[in-house]
Amino acid sequence: MSNAAEIVQKDLACLWHPFTQQKIWPSEPPLVISGGQGNWLVDIDGKRYFDGVSSLWVTVHGHGEPAINQAIKEQVEALDHSTMLGLTHPKAALLAAELARLTPPSLSRVFFSESGSTAVEIALKIAYQYWQLKGQSKKRTFVSLAEAYHGDTIGAVSIGGIELFHEVYRPLLFAKHTIAQPNKNKPGSAERSVADLARVLAEHAEEICALVIEPRVQGAAGMIIQPDGYLSTVCRMAHEAGVLVVADEVATGFGRTGAMFACQLEGVCPDLMALGKGLTGGVLPLAATMASEEIYEAFLGEFDEFRHFFHGHTYTGNPIACAAALANLALMQSRDILANVAARAAQLARGLAELARLDHVVDVRQQGMMCGVELAADKASGLAYAPGRRMGHQVIMAARRRGVIIRPLGDTVVLMPPLSSSEQEIAFLLEVVGQAIVEATEEGA
Ligand code: PMP
Repeated sequence: MSNAAEIVQKDLACLWHPFTQQKIWPSEPPLVISGGQGNWLVDIDGKRYFDGVSSLWVTVHGHGEPAINQAIKEQVEALDHSTMLGLTHPKAALLAAELARLTPPSLSRVFFSESGSTAVEIALKIAYQYWQLKGQSKKRTFVSLAEAYHGDTIGAVSIGGIELFHEVYRPLLFAKHTIAQPNKNKPGSAERSVADLARVLAEHAEEICALVIEPRVQGAAGMIIQPDGYLSTVCRMAHEAGVLVVADEVATGFGRTGAMFACQLEGVCPDLMALGKGLTGGVLPLAATMASEEIYEAFLGEFDEFRHFFHGHTYTGNPIACAAALANLALMQSRDILANVAARAAQLARGLAELARLDHVVDVRQQGMMCGVELAADKASGLAYAPGRRMGHQVIMAARRRGVIIRPLGDTVVLMPPLSSSEQEIAFLLEVVGQAIVEATEEGA
């Protein structure tokens, strides 16, 4: 086994990290994580850290869950990979049926890929081609929310709205309509968003394929929560105007918000749904795009080569990933993971109310086990920290020293603990985050 120094040297020499300013990367020695035990990560020196953001918002049952490991081992022995081109295999078929059963009743067909971005990309292509097949050739654009995040591929970036991540690529992207960001904690914002949508639909519905939305929570925007009723309202408006609804449940899906899918919190039936992250319990890369029967049927017909869906990745429906997903979904049900989410979410709510009292905390936001704690230089005026202060980063480093791994979005501290977290673990997370905020903000006050 290589030692930490050798790993770090090779990392600095060859690795390019995602969403990372590589110039600053060498300035703090990177933490080398070499183990995962339940809801804890273990570094190469054996120190344990609570996994406070579920690795990348993915972990459902913790790391190294024996039932998922067993399913993977059995699948590796049986069939490691095949193709969905002209063949099928048991795990893809069984998983498709299970997803069709669990998702809202409008969704019956499953197209597999490997990441949330590709699941969204596929939904965009299906929505576009659906309307072309229906003879509505003017439908070529989309409507999405300000500050939206749907992934990093070109189509997903096109419908994204986070200036820092997306603007540099604008010349490569297709045009879209943007509606205001609804924020439960900002009075009037949801009404503005609904009014924007009404205007866009009145003027452009015949050009719009779909409304694309992260239901209930805009995650990467900083855990921005929509007020009750917003989601069902905008989805109804889209449908009434002959516009499809694409629900991006990559972050919110699989229990994270308190329901199996966030759409179910408002009885919303989307036409397409993108799934990823928690699908395999956070163990293997797998994503799915769900479609309604009506959409699927538009791609059927007499033999006609133009009715194919022209898409398919080499690892589409990988059997090992599908086996992990089936084991994850079975465990979610047998362990009634949603009951644990309800209890832990209530505990988090109490903890967030405490954190809200701290000097530099200007907003706390929560939906189920998705939480954001926003920091600012001045509580009364809400004046933000200068970006160079990297206050969110200072807080997560202080938390790390105390044995918790979290990751901020700007100056919003994100808490996304594994859905299997215990009461003691959530108490530890909340205590450490409170201490880390006090330490970082007082140091720099
Ligand atoms: N959509 C949403 C709502 C997301 O939060 C993410 C990832 N954070 C994605 C899409 C992209 O998923 P991936 O990183 O797996 O491509």
